[in-house]
Amino acid sequence: MNNKLINHLKKLLIKNNYLDLNTFLDVILYDKQFGFYNSINRQKNELIGKEGHFITAPEISQLFGELVGIWILQLCRENHFHNINLLELGPGKGTLMRDILRIFSQQKENIKIKIHLLEFSKVLKSYQKENLKQYGHELKWYNNIFKIKDQLNDNPTIIISNEFFDCLPINQYKFYKTKNIYTKKIVRLDKNNFFFDEKVLEPQDIPFISNIIKKDFDKLNEETTIEHSPFVLSHINQICDIILENKGANLLIDYGKNDPYGDTLQSVFKNERSNLFNKIGESDYSSLVDFSNIEQIVENKNLQYYQLKTQREFLLEMGINKRIENLSLNANEFERRDLLSGYERLISKRQMGDIFKVNCFSDKNLFVPIFKL
Ligand code: SAH
Repeated sequence: MNNKLINHLKKLLIKNNYLDLNTFLDVILYDKQFGFYNSINRQKNELIGKEGHFITAPEISQLFGELVGIWILQLCRENHFHNINLLELGPGKGTLMRDILRIFSQQKENIKIKIHLLEFSKVLKSYQKENLKQYGHELKWYNNIFKIKDQLNDNPTIIISNEFFDCLPINQYKFYKTKNIYTKKIVRLDKNNFFFDEKVLEPQDIPFISNIIKKDFDKLNEETTIEHSPFVLSHINQICDIILENKGANLLIDYGKNDPYGDTLQSVFKNERSNLFNKIGESDYSSLVDFSNIEQIVENKNLQYYQLKTQREFLLEMGINKRIENLSLNANEFERRDLLSGYERLISKRQMGDIFKVNCFSDKNLFVPIFKL
């Protein structure tokens, strides 16, 4: 149990009467003293990996990061980029970036890369430093996305992220059709226990939600849950501004869908789902990313949004079959089996292949490999 964090939350609830879900999750994840990302323990290797709470595509197989690297390399070649910023949001252990930089180090051409890393956790920063310093590129860390825009020197900027947006805090709203009532999910405290409650809101207080409801009204059931993340909104807006100022593209891989509907928030402890209030400060929270929301933001900024691909489509189109063949030539029996099982997990429709999506947007004049309008 993370008792200090739980006591801190209780004090906040007594003082404020209630917290909305977004604020509650914000404190759990990011509180400077007691939050989840600041209490990750290096010795116990708690967050990402087979022994941690969850395992991610770059940790499963090098094929993933290498193919993302080849995509970035092709983008640089086609657009004659020789001096770029590469920005990763939430780099975890730094494995994806390491595999990308290895691909670049194997090429003859000299592309100058400045690496920017948005990372909140001190422990994960230390992993990233260890994994990335060998390649000799300039590395810079930030804990707040708003500080990055001024550090890019007008050079084209490629922004990547894997399983970053799914872990940002969200709010949940409910719309009751017949009664025409909107509510927002809040957390309260009763006799020392946390519980969920709903607070009634006026539609004009939440125009982004009431507009969605107006648009889809006929399709909606009697009771509809709608998710919205203020963090996703501010981060995508900021990425758009970075691209508008410097040119470039965003490649975002995450599990998600193309609408804001349903209660998709889950908490995972040691690779198993747990009750939201049971392992506060110890489990990892995530929700499905709503790509239709991202599309809307990108279009409002007048940038180019491309058709979503599944992870399976992305990896197949980037040549995962050829890549595994080549790697297998120099691998021993054990390594070959490992490569094959990773390949299967990444692209199989029953595993990560279909639920994980690859989203891309860019400035309007860019040539972007494999993505279609
Ligand atoms: N991309 C990695 C890790 C995904 S886990 C992988 O695929 O393995 C999410 C990552 O985002 C972690 O590195 C976490 O510390 C970081 N993170 C989460 N919320 C953040 C925030 N608001 N600002 C900066 N980093 C954040």
